[in-house]
Amino acid sequence: MKMSSLQLFVSMSMVFMLVTGVHCWSKEGHIMTCQIAQSLLKPEAAEVVRHLLPPYADGDLSSLCTWPDQIRHWHKYQWTSPLHFIDTPDNDCTFEYARDCHDPHGKKNMCVAGAIQNFTSQLSHFKEGTADRRYNMTEALLFLSHFMGDIHQPMHIGYTSDRGGNSIELHWFRHKSNLHHVWDREIILTAEADYYEKDTSLLLQDIEANFTDGAWSDDISSWTHCDDLDSCPTKYADESIAIACKYGYKGVESGVTLVDDYFNSRMPIVMKRVAQGGVRLAMFLNRVLADDDQEHGIASPT
Ligand SMILES: [Zn+2]
Repeated sequence: MKMSSLQLFVSMSMVFMLVTGVHCWSKEGHIMTCQIAQSLLKPEAAEVVRHLLPPYADGDLSSLCTWPDQIRHWHKYQWTSPLHFIDTPDNDCTFEYARDCHDPHGKKNMCVAGAIQNFTSQLSHFKEGTADRRYNMTEALLFLSHFMGDIHQPMHIGYTSDRGGNSIELHWFRHKSNLHHVWDREIILTAEADYYEKDTSLLLQDIEANFTDGAWSDDISSWTHCDDLDSCPTKYADESIAIACKYGYKGVESGVTLVDDYFNSRMPIVMKRVAQGGVRLAMFLNRVLADDDQEHGIASPT
């Protein structure tokens, strides 16, 4: 039997990870976003997700949520590379879809907000029972799940001149890093090392406790409020660039060393964005894959 590119990727990357022990780029944030989302799916949507996942995922959406980062440089998928982020005008601190959602060559809709619209629309064919053979529903699910994480990472919606903080080189405590990577991964890894015995599942428990019964439990209905699935990603991107300006770039320039005060004040923001991404992904999947427009659009957190 011929392997699909997805199967081939998974088997190749498993060998690679066994040999080198490497971690995927920002895998913790994506895994937590997808685990939160899957736990909030209504039964009908949960069943469709299980059906769309390949058998080797063993029903676990989060096991494939970093797949789009891994294949973005493959020839077949190079077109997806601009879909992970948005470059906005320096110091403007807003996102405007018509102005900013394009690839570096100006091709329209080629940005993370456009990608969420596109893959949401592809997945909606599944519910209508008109599964369009032009689209690979499994890939659409994985892309939507991944990009809902990316759009909530504040520095994925950043300034054009520094490529979302990628060219702002600095020190994170004692080692070299850059501002984009601080928000993608360093803050999460430092939190895990300092407070969670390097265990992502313990960190996830704390994040979930915050929105089930804690500081954010009253905010869920505003997070999931969305009159029109097409325009909501624009709101999420606008939130991200506002946070990037207020907390990401603030007081940071090339060559600085970021330590405790930056970490302690930004860590709660990263955790909240992970939670929002997960809750909103569940809301999207429930509305697209099941007939669900009730309440907050997610299963009750337990
Ligand atoms: Zn990505």
